[in-house]
Amino acid sequence: MKISVIGGGYVGLISASGLAECGHDVTIIEIDADKVDMINNAQPPIFEYNLKELLNKYVGKSLIASTSYESIAESEVSLICVGTPSLPDGSADISYILSAAQQIGDMRKTQSNFHVVTVKSTVPPGTTKNFVLPAVLKQSEKQHGQIGFAVNPEFLREGRALEDFLHPDRIVIGSEDNKSGEIIEKMYSGLDAPVLRTHLTAAEMIKYTSNALLATKISFANEIGNICKTLSVDVYDVMKGVGMDHRLSPHFLNAGCGFGGSCFPKDVSALASIAKDIGEEPHLLNAVLQVNKNQPLKMISLLEAKTGNLSQKKIAVLGLAFKDFTDDIRESRAITIIQSLLRKGAIVSAYDPMANENMKEIFPEIIYCTNARSALIDADGCLVVTEWPEFSDLNEEFHVMKRQIIIDGRRILQKGIAEGICW
Ligand code: NAD
Repeated sequence: MKISVIGGGYVGLISASGLAECGHDVTIIEIDADKVDMINNAQPPIFEYNLKELLNKYVGKSLIASTSYESIAESEVSLICVGTPSLPDGSADISYILSAAQQIGDMRKTQSNFHVVTVKSTVPPGTTKNFVLPAVLKQSEKQHGQIGFAVNPEFLREGRALEDFLHPDRIVIGSEDNKSGEIIEKMYSGLDAPVLRTHLTAAEMIKYTSNALLATKISFANEIGNICKTLSVDVYDVMKGVGMDHRLSPHFLNAGCGFGGSCFPKDVSALASIAKDIGEEPHLLNAVLQVNKNQPLKMISLLEAKTGNLSQKKIAVLGLAFKDFTDDIRESRAITIIQSLLRKGAIVSAYDPMANENMKEIFPEIIYCTNARSALIDADGCLVVTEWPEFSDLNEEFHVMKRQIIIDGRRILQKGIAEGICW
């Protein structure tokens, strides 16, 4: 099948590589010419396991990137994978989606074969039906039925993105008409996963609801963790017992310093904003966001309780990426933590196995180190913010600190070394 993927970011590049692995001919359409060059040279612009190997395998054969939308004319399916960032009021910015929709429409004007425009980005319920569909039909000068529309949300986790794409828990396909849904189902026929076929808007809502529920589990675990800490109970023992209930599952019950990344904060905010717009007060979603906002600052309070005033104190921050196995720092809790440390006059030395370079763009003024030990030299305190497995081996490295005050925000250090944020 010939497929055009619009947007060569995390979702676009992973989907395109995964679909090439499934045997399809894929063109990535990306407005950033530097990214296009990198992809065409089999250099991944992001870090993901096995991505480089897949690019080496398919680039120049069944995978190519371009700044032009021309491939849409020949494609059976276009997958819109552009960003939907938060606007200042928390709602989702769908302007990139609409721009992609118009350009797809342009390219379909002179084509008569059936084409399915598929939204893979996370968009507010109703976006495809009320905005994408009319924009494509108007621009292409086609009638309803001449072009198909589908919604196929992506559930990959950064850091394990290709594995998730190729072995998903489920494939959700929302479609306007049966034919479009069948074409998208055929596109995934190489994957072994249950398929849920539904309506366009329900598929959009499934993605928001999944992310909101995962974020809720995390904030819930964090709030219980804060209570447990005051009661001197280990929240990890508590959640182990809770997670054994088959109705709940043990996943996403790890208390810590909160969730970040490009999806949970933005999607929960967008869902809360949608609820407000339609007159439904999102009490629970607001609380999920509020707990998450406060949680990283708990690490600062714990640190201050032990070190006193932070002015001119050297604090090592271990972990900058929003999670392990990625260099992505979008909405990382490390950003909130470093901001707070700097405001209080601390000197920050930081180390992340992959994300130092990205964080330099936000905080050029802090000290970046090439390993944890260097960051810890003469430090008055240490905050562990990302669950990188290599941090679980740290032990003697802490001996180079001036004072061994260590706060673990992810339960990754060996027992007895650190004080936990909520254990
Ligand atoms: P991203 O910012 O990494 O990538 C988006 C890409 O689209 C960028 O490279 C940008 O240059 C390009 N682009 C923007 N407008 C374009 C246009 N008109 N034509 C061609 N290219 C264009 O974003 P992402 O993380 O891949 O997320 C994309 C969507 O998928 C978002 O809606 C996001 O919420 C959703 N999503 C993301 C993840 C994730 O883990 N990152 C997981 C599931 C869903």
